[in-house]
Amino acid sequence: MGKISTPKALRGPDSAFSLSSLLSNKFFVFNAQPKGGFVNEYVGEVIDEEECRARIKHAQENNIGNFYMLTLDKDRIIDAGPKGNEARFMNHSCQPNCETQKWTVNGDTRVGLFALTDIPAGTELTFNYNLECLGNGKTVCKCGASNCSGFLGVRPKVRR
Ligand SMILES: [Zn+2]
Repeated sequence: MGKISTPKALRGPDSAFSLSSLLSNKFFVFNAQPKGGFVNEYVGEVIDEEECRARIKHAQENNIGNFYMLTLDKDRIIDAGPKGNEARFMNHSCQPNCETQKWTVNGDTRVGLFALTDIPAGTELTFNYNLECLGNGKTVCKCGASNCSGFLGVRPKVRR
């Protein structure tokens, strides 16, 4: 069993994603979206950081490569694996056409995905996970953007 580094994605409210499915699933829009338009809500089971770590550890020990976790605030994470919607199939891109925004709705924080540009119907939706690597190893980014960094979570860090 490998050592699990604490991902930066779990440490602050501004960072978005930890690991996710890469290229195994995709999410396309049916209808054209105007710039700034609301695309979808990122929903799932809300868990705390301890539970998140436990799930990641479990996944790593069982060679489960897909995570669908997004930091909600400093104590809570959305795990879209068990109870998520199709938003979890959005892939990472270094030049995404969507972004996450956090909104307070009736006193609770919710995460929406919004179009960064005008998006024609049938386009694959992407956003930047801003992720740090979980565990060991690099994940190759295949987004194809001209500014692609080449890897997701370039520097795995071990925090004590
Ligand atoms: Zn890329």
